[in-house]
Amino acid sequence: MAIKKLLIANRGEIALRIHRAAHEMGIRTIAVHSTADADAMHVRLADEAICIGPPPAADSYLNIPAIISAAEISQADAIHPGYGFLSENAKFAEIVESHGIIWIGPKPEHIETMGDKVAAKKTAGELGLPLVPGSPGAVEDFDVARALAKDIGYPVIIKAASGGGGRGMKVVENEDQLESQMSQARSEAKAAFGDATVYIEKYLADPRHIEFQIFGDGKGNAIHLGERDCSLQRRHQKVLEEAPSPVIKPEERDRMGGIVAKAMADMGYRGAGTIEFLYENGEFFFIEMNTRLQVEHPVTEMITGMDLVREQIRIACGEPLSKTQDQVRFSGHAIECRINAEDPQTFMPSPGKVTAYHAPGGLFVRVDSGLYQGYCVPPYYDSMIAKLIVFGHTREGCLMRLNRALEEFVIEGMKTTIPLHQRLLENEEFRSGDYTIKWLERWLADENDAPSG
Ligand code: ADP
Repeated sequence: MAIKKLLIANRGEIALRIHRAAHEMGIRTIAVHSTADADAMHVRLADEAICIGPPPAADSYLNIPAIISAAEISQADAIHPGYGFLSENAKFAEIVESHGIIWIGPKPEHIETMGDKVAAKKTAGELGLPLVPGSPGAVEDFDVARALAKDIGYPVIIKAASGGGGRGMKVVENEDQLESQMSQARSEAKAAFGDATVYIEKYLADPRHIEFQIFGDGKGNAIHLGERDCSLQRRHQKVLEEAPSPVIKPEERDRMGGIVAKAMADMGYRGAGTIEFLYENGEFFFIEMNTRLQVEHPVTEMITGMDLVREQIRIACGEPLSKTQDQVRFSGHAIECRINAEDPQTFMPSPGKVTAYHAPGGLFVRVDSGLYQGYCVPPYYDSMIAKLIVFGHTREGCLMRLNRALEEFVIEGMKTTIPLHQRLLENEEFRSGDYTIKWLERWLADENDAPSG
């Protein structure tokens, strides 16, 4: 089953990333775009481009009939959804497959199960993954919630079953707050995700966020490609990621990676996936699974030398995994900085026209971005405009190179978070790798309190 034409149902840097892998495999690409993205780089580089609607994502990048029509008109034989948008929409995956088009992603039933966080936790538990202590399923009743929270011990976190992107979570410090926080969580979840279902977990005091990259062939074989440390977060959203984690020892990686890969093999999982854990006092606790390529996948590519998009395409074509677990080698260290069009102090979005652009280069420096001089960053979508990924043989070497690359990076015409990454790199705690999921927000608050000048 070979792919000749691939439709990329996404935009920005990830659409480019997929285009590049496809072209290297001799596959022609079809870009889809909203009217706001007519001049975007992913449209310019693709072999064909089709406008699928007006700027709002609901009318374009989430518009299933328009995307399927584009695939039919252009005679695409496969669709890659990237991340975000329709990538975790099981219905879309099903529709794609029912049109005889290859879906570059997991089986729809696995997207469905893992997309519901309550069902995902249950499945993960059955597959032998360690869970964050919490409710065995959804919680509706206040009395049940009260008894559960007492049992687990405060603080607890109320999470939306359909939540994502760091939204739909409420931390509850004590019993007095439980009822009001739970009602609020339910109504917010209903408004944001169309589903009021919530569940309860122990709120871990100071964990790290450690996730494992996996690949399955859909026929009972799976491998892991090690972990990524995504603990540097603001409002539960990742800011900078690294691989390997500064705190995970090789034996721990092999042990946990082995458990995760076995779970995915048992499930018959197909394609790329990420199993996310919180890690505290040497223990892993499953929080969720993402059934798609992640923003931070390049750090794994850098330390394994594997092209994860190529791997996704191969698997979707029914080919075997390109490596056995024993053939996967980890070497060196990689860090990714997410660069957003935002004020680096207030994080207010700052879209606009790029008046000058120079991307850093040199040995082991990679920039994934759709920016170019004269390009207007549209205000309708995510504020991430570039990813800077740097490799070093050691973490220290990687930090030195990252510093140099950030210095070289010029994006004028809008505010970006480049200065935030530069300040971060000067911090001793970050440099030593001694940070948790709460660290970045604490550091930002301290910085804002510090006298200026
Ligand atoms: P989302 O799907 O919105 O990304 P996750 O369940 O992956 O939600 O959680 C996102 C982040 O929220 C985690 O990386 C972590 O920082 C924080 N978090 C989630 N669950 C807990 C918990 N039980 N205890 C402490 N922090 C948590």
